[in-house]
Parts: sequence; structure tokens; C-alpha cells
Amino acid sequence: MSRIADFVCDLVFPNRCPFCDRFIPWNFLCCPECREKLETADFCPTCGMAACVCGTAEFSYDSCAVARPYTGLVREGILRLKYNRGFNAAKLICTELSEKLKSLDIPNSADLITAVPMTKSRRRSTGYNQAEYIAKLLSKSLGLPLDFKLIGKNKTASAQHKLSAEERREAAKSAYFAPKSHADISGKTVILCDDIITTGSTLSECAAVLKAEGASRVCCAVLSGTLLSPDKNIKE
Ligand SMILES: [Zn+2]
Ligand SMILES: [Zn+2]
Repeated sequence: MSRIADFVCDLVFPNRCPFCDRFIPWNFLCCPECREKLETADFCPTCGMAACVCGTAEFSYDSCAVARPYTGLVREGILRLKYNRGFNAAKLICTELSEKLKSLDIPNSADLITAVPMTKSRRRSTGYNQAEYIAKLLSKSLGLPLDFKLIGKNKTASAQHKLSAEERREAAKSAYFAPKSHADISGKTVILCDDIITTGSTLSECAAVLKAEGASRVCCAVLSGTLLSPDKNIKE
């Protein structure tokens, strides 16, 4: 685009850095200074944990790509996505997540994308599901279809962050179910999206539902992972 058009876009659509609130060009997702400051960490591409638990724990998913640690600026950006509807930070991390999935060669063999569901009442109060928002961005960048009718969530499930690791596993088991009429996903590879991975129990139970529906592989795609030991609660 020409420089004049860029200038007009900046005037008409003033854009701000999601982390420091400075004005940024319309086609930027954050300012270069904050981008430099974004925290990084290595996560196991199989279990999705910073401290790999593949030797001791079993998950129903086959792989888990995590873009960034849930700390500092990334954590702020994800909280914005959850509560304030600021989307720039999530868009930026989603671009990285998409690259990560490509580097793990997942999109080539994947058939569709879905997301960890919310209860209907939670969705009504927040207006949208942040996991579905992530799935929509990935669907666009990877060119894969979406299906949000593969996993249902019971409304009795309690808020995950108040529970211990053991309680989370138990709660997750009864929280998710296969809706009566869902698409046939026999033999398909499904990308399952969420905003945060802590113990992996939510993603694992959702993956179990997809496997029960016939999915042959479930690859998780998550914006951020906690660096706390899985037995500690995150309080948000
Ligand atoms: Zn900034
Ligand atoms: Zn692992």
C-alpha cells in the first residue's frame, strides 16, 4: 500500500500497542519494543509442558504446540483477550502459534480445527469464547475448516482455577461430552485450540471426546503455557 494510504489508515483506524498503549501503525500488532520484551520458553511438543511429564502422565491428545509462557506481557495480553476484548496481543501470539504448528508439520496432515468449549451461560456473560477466537484465526492462516459442534460442556463444571490438579482431572472428566448430532470425524486429524495449558487435563478430556467420535489424531494448539508446577493453582 502507498504511504499516503498508510497515513490515512492510521488516521481513520488509530491502533495501539496492546501492552504499552502507545500508538502504532495500523498494520502492526504491537510496538517493536514490546515485541522484544515478550517472554519465551521451551515447551515439550508432545505433552505441552515446560517441564515434560511424558514419562509419568498420559494424555488423550497426540501433540501440543504452545506459543509462549503465561508470564509477564503475554499473560497481560491473554487476560485482555479473556476479559477486555483487546485482540491485538492474541492476534500476534496466534501468528506465532501458526508458525509453530507449521514447523511441527501439523497443518499438512490436519483436517479441521475445533476449540475447547464454554458453557452456554458463560458464553452469554462474556459474549464470546476466546478459544474459538483463536481457532478462527488459525483457520484463516492455515486454510482449514472449523467445527465448534464436536464437544459439549456441562454447566455443572466448576471453575477450573479454583481446583487442585487432582480435582481438575476429576472435574474435566465429567465436564465434556459428545453432542448427540455431530459431524463424522472418523479417521480425521483435529487441531484443538485453547488459550492456556496448565495441567493438560482440560485438553486431554476434550481430546478424549474427539477420539471417542473417531478422530485418529488430536493436535493441541495453545497460546500460552503456565510455568508453575501443575500442582499449584493459578489464580486469575
Ligand atoms: Zn508496546
Ligand atoms: Zn512431554
